[in-house]
Amino acid sequence: MDGLLEIDSLTVSYGPNRALASVSLELGAGESLAVVGESGSGKSTLLRSIARLLPCQARIESGAIEFRGTDLVTAPGRVLRSLRGSQIAYVFQNGRESLDPLFTVGRQLDEVLRAHGKEVPPSWGEALLRRMGIEDPGRVLAAFPRELSGGQCQRVAVALSVACGPSLLLADEPTGGLDEEARDKVGGLLGDLNAREGVALVTVTHDIGFAAQVARRIAVMRDGRIVEEGPTERVMARPSQPYTRELIDAVPRTGRTFRRVGDGA
Ligand code: ADP
Ligand code: MG
Repeated sequence: MDGLLEIDSLTVSYGPNRALASVSLELGAGESLAVVGESGSGKSTLLRSIARLLPCQARIESGAIEFRGTDLVTAPGRVLRSLRGSQIAYVFQNGRESLDPLFTVGRQLDEVLRAHGKEVPPSWGEALLRRMGIEDPGRVLAAFPRELSGGQCQRVAVALSVACGPSLLLADEPTGGLDEEARDKVGGLLGDLNAREGVALVTVTHDIGFAAQVARRIAVMRDGRIVEEGPTERVMARPSQPYTRELIDAVPRTGRTFRRVGDGA
């Protein structure tokens, strides 16, 4: 396995409250991992720690987060900003909120390239939106965020985050607030980016069904600890923890299958 990300004994607190207690996880280049747990279990804290986007009240007490040989815990701000702009992309829960309401989608996409000092090639935005599974890219490029559905906004947010070709995509509850159809589309998009384009993925979600749809490995988090981790098929079929079984039983039975995009068929 070509190591990309290695989290070693990470402990993070908000004042006296410990949100992560000695969390260790590894991810190889091009791999996918979903971290699953109830609200308050520490998922966002984990993802924000990796991107070093923690709120100021949070304190990394101990541990290391190595990304391609750089320790993100001790790296200077300049290095973190450069990694976030190129190698590590972040998708927030609410796609609409990550877009600027005052500018069209096309302008925001072009801005990302310009901010990286790159020329905008002709039809670039259109091609990018097509890659995101958006069928009418011309209309979406010309639209303001308020003119788009929640699912479209989330796919545009993913487009913005992957525009510069990151090797790691971090997604925090990327389907929160979306209906089932939009959720499947965003799940399919993340699965595609990982399986077909080799972007490594760490997504956190309370929905183990969604986790199984997009990731090859699942880690289950409870009260700031990883209580179970393994290949998706094994965790779903033979969970080692009763807690994991509860999460599986909580998935609504709507005929969703757990087959991932990019797995053939
Ligand atoms: P999740 O994303 O799984 O819902 P979080 O990482 O947001 O979990 O929260 C983990 C724990 O840290 C919770 O107990 C939560 O109350 C606490 N927490 C999260 N953010 C803050 C904050 N900004 N200030 C204080 N406590 C926080
Ligand atoms: Mg959260």
